[in-house]
Amino acid sequence: RDVVDSSLVLDWLRRVSTAMHQHQHHLIDLDSAIGDGDHGFNMARGFAAVRVTLDAPSQRPASPGTALMAAGTTLVSVVGGAAGPLYGGAFRTWGAALGTATEVSTLRFAAGLTAALATMQRLGAAVPGDKTMIDACSPAVGAFRDAAESGAGLPPAARAAARAAETGMLATIPLQARKGRAAYLGLRSIGHQDPGATSACYVFRALAEAAEA
Ligand code: ADP
Ligand code: MG
Ligand code: MG
Repeated sequence: RDVVDSSLVLDWLRRVSTAMHQHQHHLIDLDSAIGDGDHGFNMARGFAAVRVTLDAPSQRPASPGTALMAAGTTLVSVVGGAAGPLYGGAFRTWGAALGTATEVSTLRFAAGLTAALATMQRLGAAVPGDKTMIDACSPAVGAFRDAAESGAGLPPAARAAARAAETGMLATIPLQARKGRAAYLGLRSIGHQDPGATSACYVFRALAEAAEA
């Protein structure tokens, strides 16, 4: 599979919704250790709403771009807290970059993903190493883009991204947080896995699964 269409994006986002629901308590435990404990709830609720939006027969998106745009708008409006606007803004940028084409190449999907990461970093002002979702997203996006630019199709590019996200997620454990609520803990944030990097890992894992399906 080397093109992305709306059914791939819908399948992917349904899988994200399922994963956030399944791992809700794990995300809550992680956020209870270094935040306010709501990340699992925020993500499960947000992506459940995305699923409802995208599955509504009257507004079934005809293109990957419109699906991502609708998902982002839903996340921004439904999810309180730091992560909603960051994920939502990123999805909206990604959707805008893809426009209304009914099929986009893996390379164009990668370019949209790169723009989405830039939005996330502009909104949150976090850089890799700050112990945030950027620590999973930045290497994942880099791996996806590298694979796409070397001519890989969607499944290997998404697999590479999922692996990089997982490595980045685990690498947040020894870091001291410099952004978000966890930063208030200072040195006490060390030794805990970042909740947002963990949910980001689920997003990329679901993409790899959808790409293989
Ligand atoms: P809140 O902290 O408002 O309760 P969530 O619990 O939903 O929001 O999300 C927390 C996650 O958001 C953190 O684990 C971190 O990954 C991410 N995050 C917080 N602030 C930033 C930021 N400025 N830039 C990037 N990611 C951030
Ligand atoms: Mg929280
Ligand atoms: Mg909160």
